[in-house]
Amino acid sequence: MTASVPSISLSDQSWWFEEALRAEGNRPAAPCLTGEHDVDVAIVGGGFTGLWTAIALRERRPDLSVALIEASTCGSGASGKNGGKVHGYWAALSTAVNALGEDGALAIAKAGSRAQDGIRTFAAACVRDVWWNEGPNILVSTSPSQDKKIDAAVALARRLGVSDQVTALSQAEVQGYCASPAFRGGLIYPESATVQPARLARALREAAMASGCRIFENTPMASLDPGTPNRIGTPQGSLLAREVVLATNAALAERRDVRPYVSVFSSYAVLTEPSGEKLSSAGWNGAQSFADLRMFLHYFRRTPDGRVLMGSGSGPIACCANWRSAAMTRDARTAERAERGLRHLVPAFADVPLTRAWGGAIDVASDRLPMFRTVDGTHIHFGCGYSGHGVNATYIGGQCLASLVLGSKDEWTSLPFCTRTPPRLPPEPFRYLGGNAVRWAILRSEECEEVGDRVPLAARAIAKLPKLMGLKIGVR
Ligand SMILES: Cc1cc2nc3c(=O)[nH]c(=O)nc-3n(C[C@H](O)[C@H](O)[C@H](O)COP(=O)(O)OP(=O)(O)OC[C@H]3O[C@@H](n4cnc5c(N)ncnc54)[C@H](O)[C@@H]3O)c2cc1C
Repeated sequence: MTASVPSISLSDQSWWFEEALRAEGNRPAAPCLTGEHDVDVAIVGGGFTGLWTAIALRERRPDLSVALIEASTCGSGASGKNGGKVHGYWAALSTAVNALGEDGALAIAKAGSRAQDGIRTFAAACVRDVWWNEGPNILVSTSPSQDKKIDAAVALARRLGVSDQVTALSQAEVQGYCASPAFRGGLIYPESATVQPARLARALREAAMASGCRIFENTPMASLDPGTPNRIGTPQGSLLAREVVLATNAALAERRDVRPYVSVFSSYAVLTEPSGEKLSSAGWNGAQSFADLRMFLHYFRRTPDGRVLMGSGSGPIACCANWRSAAMTRDARTAERAERGLRHLVPAFADVPLTRAWGGAIDVASDRLPMFRTVDGTHIHFGCGYSGHGVNATYIGGQCLASLVLGSKDEWTSLPFCTRTPPRLPPEPFRYLGGNAVRWAILRSEECEEVGDRVPLAARAIAKLPKLMGLKIGVR
């Protein structure tokens, strides 16, 4: 396929979100906030981060009054748009060791395992099925340069004493999980699952409300005045709160204290019509999900009703953290890359029509790990920087933010997510211009390597720049 548009036009909302609303009978939104309200804790943002925080707070301290405001509808942000691949940090050990050293990397990987347990327990107790399906996360190599990452990942796990978390797969073995001539070998990580992400978000919303948290939808925070109490202004009212948790994802990158550490990129997904027989013909019969070993990765999973979702993490960068820009949701070229990935990586689905394509902003931290912090001298806390890997990590975010609100020194607040200071990114406009150049160079290099073409000299040279500059993102 050579066209630079996908075979279906981009939608504002994901298929997941509409399916989840339908499954719950298209209930009306929660009321919007009117008048002045006094609470102990105000949470801004009704995605996974805000909702897990609300639930953790009410579980630990039922005496606290908690209110959550959401600009639109809970689950309509990235939490209802993502690939629904759920796993912690075992597959990101090398990134984590680079950022945190070996002990820090192991600490966050173990926290990811605790999160996986927490989400599993929640999913099992949900009244409505959230399509929680456990199966391994398989990383596939599709080029000789990706092959090198296989041995390195296995060697690192052995060195850290966690060989049980990953095994190398030969070409025949990886193709046994899904028949694709593009797969040259791979890595299998047993601790992983898939979920219907919007159903999970909606179930969290219900659980938060059932726990006694008050939720106000269609209520954007228009202003925040720090103080005792903090005052949050909304179009029709205000919230006075001793503690505030900001869980607004990419929007946080606009803040002066977050901007040096977090850039806004985008990720796009395409979803096919169901085709159970094509999945069977590919031998994709279990709950395994996949990603390739590119830096701008393809991630893919199946649904219980026989669809395949293919995502591409190669979407445009937002200039000056403008997460509302059209590039975050309207970039047909990235959706087309996702579709091309689908047809190439899962050839059994070469002619299965798409049912939906969509995109969304992702908050990429300078070391690709999330941060949960309290703004100096205030009772305002925030969590972001998931870097396209937030379904598992937002559970950790909820626990860390609840502990920060409660002033607890515990297993959560001692994690590097709460204690480290990530490296600073270059300021704008260098960040945007440099980021675009590096994105082009890496995309070009990875595409050439996959088809065996020579990588142009300019792409090779520019792709090396982040490493030469001592950066931790954009480094191959
Ligand atoms: C296409 C795509 C695919 C992805 N795939 C995966 C994957 O497979 N696995 C994985 O682990 N991660 C994936 N991610 C990342 C993951 O979805 C996110 O990291 C995670 O959902 C972040 O949750 P959140 O609650 O912090 O943000 P969100 O879900 O975006 O929630 C933030 C909420 O804040 C609200 N808000 C913003 N501003 C205001 C305001 N001023 N006032 C009130 N409310 C406000 C928004 O409306 C939104 O609902 C993907 C992301 C995208 C976009």
